Amino acid sequence: MRGVVMRAPGDVRVEEREDPKILYPTDAIIRVSAACVCGSDLWPFRGVDEVHDRPMGHEYVGVVEQVGSDVKNIQVGDFVVGSLFASDNTCEICQAGYQSRCVHAELIGMIGTQAQFARIPLADGTLVATPGRPEAELIPSLLAASDVLGTGWFAAVAAEAGPGKTVAVVGDGAVGLLGVLAAKQLGAERIVIFSRHEDRQKLAVEFGATDIVTERGDEGVAKLNDLMGGLGAHSTIEAVGTQESMMQAIRVTRPGGHVGYVGVAHEVQLPGDELFFSAVHLHGGPAPVRRFLPELIQLICDRKINPGKVFDLELPLEKAAEGYKAMDERRAIKALLIPQAA
Ligand SMILES: [Zn+2]
Repeated sequence: MRGVVMRAPGDVRVEEREDPKILYPTDAIIRVSAACVCGSDLWPFRGVDEVHDRPMGHEYVGVVEQVGSDVKNIQVGDFVVGSLFASDNTCEICQAGYQSRCVHAELIGMIGTQAQFARIPLADGTLVATPGRPEAELIPSLLAASDVLGTGWFAAVAAEAGPGKTVAVVGDGAVGLLGVLAAKQLGAERIVIFSRHEDRQKLAVEFGATDIVTERGDEGVAKLNDLMGGLGAHSTIEAVGTQESMMQAIRVTRPGGHVGYVGVAHEVQLPGDELFFSAVHLHGGPAPVRRFLPELIQLICDRKINPGKVFDLELPLEKAAEGYKAMDERRAIKALLIPQAA
């Protein structure tokens, strides 16, 4: 099969990869209908994370081709959405809603779904079948559910966004934008996003943002406080993962408020004294996307939300390298990849 391999930072290729096989009776093999490039794939692309001949991709929707002998809930022919972590969905951690930290969790990113086929471990726990075969126009939104929407949704839930709440969003990538959508769906009253990019601001407003703040740092904090009567936000979504973004998130949150942080942390160090006096709740980490999949799939199939709008570039799998480049240069918010017929 054809699949994306990152040879080294900046060097993305589409190569012949071995066809996946069932390795464990709990596995399924899917034919990937659509995959995409994640903001987190840019960390190794830029050389921030080490990378050497790694298969890429952890977001996917597709059709089940084959199941192992222990798989009961998923059938050959099902159209399925999975998340970036394989999980059994039965252990105590999963049952509590933290499937991304399942005691048997496996990173799908190690398998690589930017490919024609993929082996999905723990298929019964990991995959959720859609009601029937979805129409083609729903596929980008279902694909978004497999990571960026699920992650933005978790951030909004972790930040306790809801009716009567004011929400601040730090980060205008796909996750931040879908954090706006999630906060709106959860009933938030006012949603402010930090963004300097016109196309992203537009999409944020479409998803439910009520205000845009273009200032950053102390100025951004002051501007947001002005908008929120000098008190700061009840709920803040942090969707970047840098020192600056994390501190921005903590500083715009009112005492007693909640920060939902989902940007993959890169060398973030929290100053204990400032954290102590901030009196905010911090909750986040790798999003347990699986917790939200049934609800998100339903909202998408009922056409109540259209998160697929974050994909502003669609490419055949063979041109994956162009997707990485466009996202790296911020010419695209998010690139969707369509594998060629096998
Ligand atoms: Zn588990």
